[in-house]
Formats: sequence, structure tokens, C-alpha cells
Amino acid sequence: MRQIKTLIIGSGISGLSAARWLKKHGHHDFELVELEDHMGGNSHCGNNAVSSYPLGAHYITIANNDDSLLLDFLQDIGVITHYENAQPVYNDYYLCFDPEERLLINGQWQEGLVPDFGIGDNDREQIKKFFTLINELKKSKGEDGKFGFDIPLDNSSTDQKYRQLDKISFKAYLTQNGYTSPYLLWYLNYCCKDDYGQKADDVSAWAGLHYFAARRGTAANAEENAVLTWPEGNGWLMNILARDVKEHIHIGTMCSQISLKSGGGISAEILDIKKNITYTIEAEKVIMASPQFVNQKIFAGSEKRQLDLNKLNYSPWFVANITVNDLPQNKGAGLCWDNVAYNMASVGYVNASHQHVNNIEKKRVITYYLPLCDYEPRIARLAAYTRTYQQWLDIIIPELEYMHPGITPCIEQVDGWVWGHGMISPQINYIWGADRKNAQQAVNDSLFFAHTDLSGISIFEEAFHQGIKAANDVLASYEQHGNK
Ligand SMILES: Cc1cc2nc3c(=O)[nH]c(=O)nc-3n(C[C@H](O)[C@H](O)[C@H](O)COP(=O)(O)OP(=O)(O)OC[C@H]3O[C@@H](n4cnc5c(N)ncnc54)[C@H](O)[C@@H]3O)c2cc1C
Repeated sequence: MRQIKTLIIGSGISGLSAARWLKKHGHHDFELVELEDHMGGNSHCGNNAVSSYPLGAHYITIANNDDSLLLDFLQDIGVITHYENAQPVYNDYYLCFDPEERLLINGQWQEGLVPDFGIGDNDREQIKKFFTLINELKKSKGEDGKFGFDIPLDNSSTDQKYRQLDKISFKAYLTQNGYTSPYLLWYLNYCCKDDYGQKADDVSAWAGLHYFAARRGTAANAEENAVLTWPEGNGWLMNILARDVKEHIHIGTMCSQISLKSGGGISAEILDIKKNITYTIEAEKVIMASPQFVNQKIFAGSEKRQLDLNKLNYSPWFVANITVNDLPQNKGAGLCWDNVAYNMASVGYVNASHQHVNNIEKKRVITYYLPLCDYEPRIARLAAYTRTYQQWLDIIIPELEYMHPGITPCIEQVDGWVWGHGMISPQINYIWGADRKNAQQAVNDSLFFAHTDLSGISIFEEAFHQGIKAANDVLASYEQHGNK
């Protein structure tokens, strides 16, 4: 049995961010346990002889200019090099190189992902109308003076004119507002699949609009909302977050049970998976940076939490890293970082080798993303767990052949990865309903929670802030009781 002050469960971005924050504030008596044999959770990455590659999260957009915590972090780690006229200057090596995005539509690759090639005037007008609305929403504030849509999302306005949008689906909102263009509707459905792993009818309108309206980052040397990315995706950010707290992290170490001690504090049962030994850690405070469906299983007092797990849906994903020695080209725009085809099941692939300074090699790794959203998550998850390697190839290869006719002989290796509970889905009434709020509540001033499923939107920024918030609550609690 060991006694420590603070235990963190989970080395996803939320857990690592909490660890960083504790250390930054002079709190050193903490340990972080991670059940996998690697760190990073859904921001985990891999590599082979050709390139590093993401297995999940692969980019962030430049920070909102009022998100000082994120800006400071990005400056600490050299992603922001300095400021010019109060505007951050981002490191050119981390800004997504040109060309960034292309879409295969009407038989040709066009630049950018918003449909343009071969569409009609009415489609064009509706697309223009939607983005005019988004530009208004970006600036729009509620009665409380807060932005309608912000990051972290808990900073968003409480004004009902925005929050009521959480009560209908994005698809219903678009229909009610007269959007009928199949091209625009395809694009917005694609965005929901890409960002939330679900279709527009399974995502709330608030969440659907948040993706576009909450990002207001500007920079001295980049376009608004520019993308930051690395060959290993957000694994790069994850490794940097972990770097300063490495000595506190134990991988291959699972927390199997948590219970509240009668005199205060927490008792945690820990399994060292490699050595197959169990031991107990007694901690004054615990931050559970693990998802709620895990927490409900391992917290022996879970009835103390007002949490209906049925209200939390997690989108399953399949990701494949495909090593190719050539990419036969179709008509139109050349290879980009993000490559998407109109009306396909997947959301396309990113070229993991794109940020290599020498990106002319024909041999490269492409990271293919397939949200499993054709059935409700539970069923899709079960189907994913039972599919064979060959069955996955039977899904991937026809899509790749459609994008790159003749690619099959160029494929050298396909490494697949299933995320059963890839990301929380912002389904109707989850973000501003009671369930999310209840799930955030600490228990007995001892057990604190931090995970993107408590945000409802699974992005790096939310995880980063979730970790800081939980760490601040823990530090404030120690402070209140006169110890650090
Ligand atoms: C396919 C895919 C693509 C994505 N793309 C992007 C993207 O491009 N940009 C972006 O910003 N976000 C993206 N995301 C979202 C990503 O999930 C978040 O950015 C972020 O990584 C979530 O971090 P987290 O800490 O909240 O959770 P998690 O990553 O879920 O971390 C939880 C950790 O807890 C550990 N754990 C669980 N139970 C236990 C236990 N009992 N004991 C010990 N440890 C335990 C887990 O192993 C895991 O490491 C993507 C997600 C997926 C699935």
C-alpha cells in the first residue's frame, strides 16, 4: 500500500493536462496511472520506417485569441514563437503546409472541401447564405455578454437563443432554415461525421454550429482558423504534455476500483498488468481522467453520482494507416494534407507524410478515417469488434480505388485500429442538458472528473481545459484545508 496526495487515472490529453497543471503549481506528490502500454488515449500515435502517423486525433486549429491558457501553453512549447502587433506568430513547421484540402466531386479533385466544382447557382447561393450566418454567429453574443459559441464550450453564453439549439438536431435546424442544397447538406453532414463521428440528424444543432462559429483564432502569419498538424498528429502535442511529468506516469497500470474512505480520501486498487500484481494506493484526491462508462464501473460509490450512462453515446471509429509506394492521381487538384471524396462512407484520409520537409517521396503513409455511424453506436461497436482484417480491407480498398484508380498494387501495408468508444457524441440535449452537468460534479471533495465526455465535444482544446479545471479544483480544495 502506498500513500500519495493525488492520483490521476488516465493519460489522455485531459489527464496529462491535469498533471502538467499540478506540477506547474508546485504540487509534486501525484501519480498518473494508465492502463494501456502507451500514453495518450485517443491522441495515441504510431510509426513505421516511412513515417510517424496518428491513430486518432490529428490536428488542432490555431487558438482563439482570448484563450490565454492555451496560447501560453502553445508559446511554452514553441508552437507560437512570438507576438507581432498582439497577434501570435505560429511556427511555420507546424502550420499545415499548402495545399491543405481537396474534394473529389463530379469526377474531379477540386481545391477545398466545400463543394464547388459542377454545382448549380442555387447550391452556391445556399452555401453563401450558410457561411454568412456563420460569420454573424462568430461575432454574436448573448444577454450575458458572452459569445454564443466558445471554446472551452462552458464559456459559451447561457442565453436561450443559443442554448435552445441543443434541443433539435442539426439536420432539423437546417431543414427549418430552408437549406435544401444536396451539396451543402452533404458538406455539413460530412463535417458532423468528421468532427463528432455521427451524422447531422444525430448531432444537436448547437454542436453542429459550434464547430464553425466557436473558432475565431487569428495570427500574424496564418489565415483565420489555420490548422496546426504534425506527422504523428496530436501525438506530438501529447508527447510534449507528457515530457515534463514523465516521472509521475505509470503505463500498463490499471485502476480497477476506487472507493471513498470513511475518514476522507480515496482508496484505489491498482493492477500492474505486466507483473500481474495488485496493490492499493491511498490518495487524498483522485482525478478520474477516464471516460464515464469506465468510471461508473470502477467507482464503488457510483450511486453517489447522478449520472445516467444511457445519455452518453460514444462514436466508434476505424482508422487505418496505409503505406503506399505511389498514389495514382485522378483529374484535378494534386495531393493535399486532407483528401475527401463526395458521398463516401469514410471522411477520407490525411497524408501523414505531408509535414515532412521533404514531402516529395512517393512512398508515404496515409491515415484513413471511417466513422462507424450507419447504426447506433452499440451495434456499430459490436460489428466492428467482430469484423476480420480482410473484411476491413474490403471496405477500405474500394474507397481508395475510387479516389486513386489502380492504387491496389501500390499498397504495401495496412495497419488498422478500432476505437470502440472513440469520442463522445454531442447528441440532442446532451451539452446543455442536466446529465452533462451532473457528471461534472465532484464527489465528497475527494473525487474529481476530467474527460472530454464531460464537454460533449471531443477536441484537444476541451481536454486541455478539462484537465486544468480538475487540477485547479484539487489545488483549491487543498488550499481551503490549509495544505498543498
Ligand atoms: C478517430 C478519432 C479522431 C480524432 N481526431 C481529432 C482531431 O483531429 N483533433 C482533436 O482535437 N481531437 C480529435 N479526436 C478527439 C480526441 O479524443 C480528443 O482530442 C482527446 O484526445 C481526448 O482526450 P481525453 O483525455 O478526454 O480522453 P481519452 O483519450 O479517452 O483518455 C482517457 C485515458 O484513460 C485511460 N483509462 C481508461 N480507463 C482506465 C483505467 N481504469 N485505469 C487507467 N487508465 C484508464 C485510457 O486508456 C485513456 O488513455 C479524435 C478522436 C478519435 C477517436
